[in-house]
Amino acid sequence: MIEIDNVSKWYGSFQVLTDCSTTIQQGEVVVVCGPSGSGKSTLIKTVNALEPIQQGDIRVAGQSITAKGTNLPQLRAKVGMVFQNFELFPHLSVTENLTLAQTNVLGRNPTDATARGLKMLDRVGLLAHKDKFPGQLSGGQQQRVAIARALSMDPIAMLFDEPTSALDPEMVGEVLDVMVQLAQEGMTMMCVTHEMGFARKVSHRVIFMDAGRIVEDCPKDDFFGRPDARSPRAREFLSKIL
Ligand code: ATP
Ligand code: MG
Repeated sequence: MIEIDNVSKWYGSFQVLTDCSTTIQQGEVVVVCGPSGSGKSTLIKTVNALEPIQQGDIRVAGQSITAKGTNLPQLRAKVGMVFQNFELFPHLSVTENLTLAQTNVLGRNPTDATARGLKMLDRVGLLAHKDKFPGQLSGGQQQRVAIARALSMDPIAMLFDEPTSALDPEMVGEVLDVMVQLAQEGMTMMCVTHEMGFARKVSHRVIFMDAGRIVEDCPKDDFFGRPDARSPRAREFLSKIL
């Protein structure tokens, strides 16, 4: 489904990712954690080629992101991405945010795009807000709209980069609830998050990154259940956040 194969990346002369490899199977939920600056955001952005890689390869549903002739906009449309700061278009209504990429990238007609968008908006519990603008919504509501927007594209997988870390604490739960539901419905998910309750509840695997490397990649129960088996850096990290 998502194959990350020996990926290395540099920002100028600074090596930000070193030999990262992992495979995310269809229906698998993988949580990526690790200290600030360890390369989590960079790794997740390489998956839909928002950041280019200099070595290795990534394949999404068998299609290489580096191969000549790969249609990157089409590939990106298959992999939904949700960021820390929502990144909704502030000058467009909720409905317009939901339909824009469907019509522009997928070529859906406006009627179908609106129907699909509103169905996803209903799914995240926000149908009543369809005519509002992002600035009229709370952070948690904006993030749920961002998730609905990504789902409107019928993605084969979803990438999340700390989707709750910019939210006031009382809004974290409503976003996590949507993510838990998605996971339980079998969506393939790669989530950078430090919400270890979420990781424990629905993830299958946990990846721990440090200094641009994947230093742990193991089943959730091993990650949380056998602290002695963890690397010293992962143990230290876990002791700080648990
Ligand atoms: P955080 O937990 O703070 O979000 P992260 O694990 O997501 O951190 P990245 O954002 O991937 O880490 O950054 C990894 C390293 O690459 C950091 O040292 C960062 O300063 C550096 N970096 C990130 N983006 C760029 C860029 N566009 N140009 C140069 N260096 C960058
Ligand atoms: Mg980050």
